[in-house]
Amino acid sequence: MRRAPKGERVIIALLGRRNSGKSSLINAIVGQEIAIVSEVPGTTTDPVDKHYELLPLGPVTFYDTPGLDDVGYLGELRVKATKKILAKCDIALLVVDERGIGECEVNILQELREKNIPTIVVFNKIDIAVPDEKDIEFCKNLTFPYVMVSTVSKEGVLELKEKIIETVPSFLKEEQVLVQDLINPGELVVLVVPIDLSAPKGRLILPQVQVLRSILDANAIAVVTKESELEKTLNSLSIKPSLVITDSQAIGIVSRIVPEDVRLTTFSIIMARYKSGNLDTLLEGLETINDLKDGDRVLISEACSHHPLEDDIGKVKIPGWILKHTGKRIHFDVYQGGDFPEDLEKYKLVVHCGACMLNPAEMKHRIIECRRRGVPITNYGMTISKIHGVIDRVLRPFKIEKKGVL
Ligand code: SF4
Repeated sequence: MRRAPKGERVIIALLGRRNSGKSSLINAIVGQEIAIVSEVPGTTTDPVDKHYELLPLGPVTFYDTPGLDDVGYLGELRVKATKKILAKCDIALLVVDERGIGECEVNILQELREKNIPTIVVFNKIDIAVPDEKDIEFCKNLTFPYVMVSTVSKEGVLELKEKIIETVPSFLKEEQVLVQDLINPGELVVLVVPIDLSAPKGRLILPQVQVLRSILDANAIAVVTKESELEKTLNSLSIKPSLVITDSQAIGIVSRIVPEDVRLTTFSIIMARYKSGNLDTLLEGLETINDLKDGDRVLISEACSHHPLEDDIGKVKIPGWILKHTGKRIHFDVYQGGDFPEDLEKYKLVVHCGACMLNPAEMKHRIIECRRRGVPITNYGMTISKIHGVIDRVLRPFKIEKKGVL
């Protein structure tokens, strides 16, 4: 089986009450005994992931989650852990057993719809009882697709797999591109990769490797250089590069070296388009920087925790640049990790990192959550390009003109 990077897998969360048969259902779909199955309610105490090749769709990950009706202090913590899975899943299967659709199911269906997560209702254990007519009507009225399944007789399992493939959002079925649509075969692309204190020892970071691979997939030619060697590199080339892609932090110096008639952008903007589908919302958020006032709070959001460096991008550089650019007294909070703060409303703007550790669904959910709460969101790379006065230039390869942003 092809091992896909985390960000390329379709994430499918199985939700439901304790003992509704979520674990058995995963076993029935993948045809293996991986999830622990027991008649004892609450056997799954932490979300468990299982990778599977769901053909013809491709690699998927099923998350088996603890019951939504779990009780007690630990139970509440487990329900919280289950809810966190919603922040990264592409689709959800709500598993309903012979108890039918009750308050617990209605509440979670409402939450799934608010979060814009495509959901299939799976009426499980039909060998014990057929679903109630009123529950079927409920799904029809609210346009939730549903499937009836028995993990004992395997009835409905194939239909469920087909329904999953049908329900997966179309953008996930299409091959997502990083740069293939920006370059032609045979063209030359120069990648500018600073090797400074923030660069990991002995390797390139994931976005750089992915962009490099994407250039090779496009049958184009990649030249990798540091910003200190860029001028020499450009002078030594016998053909003009079609595109230069730089680390955002070097955009100031790189934009001065690269001739105006050579297209220029940043790894961060390429990844932002890849992770969030389009750049529109992040660009709208960018405009908010000019509206910040004394006393406003800005959230610097990083999707993973790393040891802070002396001149850390999130903790030091971006706040410093925004303060200098606006001349306002703004408060910054830095939030690191797989979660997103719950009290988003107190922020006038969220500036998000490149999200290389998040899958596209996680990043999209964060954008949706910000939009739902009326909080503008943008990202590091766009902010840096704006502050260096080159946002229009770095957007040009995507044929986006954002006049008036500066
Ligand atoms: S997830 Fe964000 S903070 Fe973590 S390495 Fe990637 S860009 Fe940096």
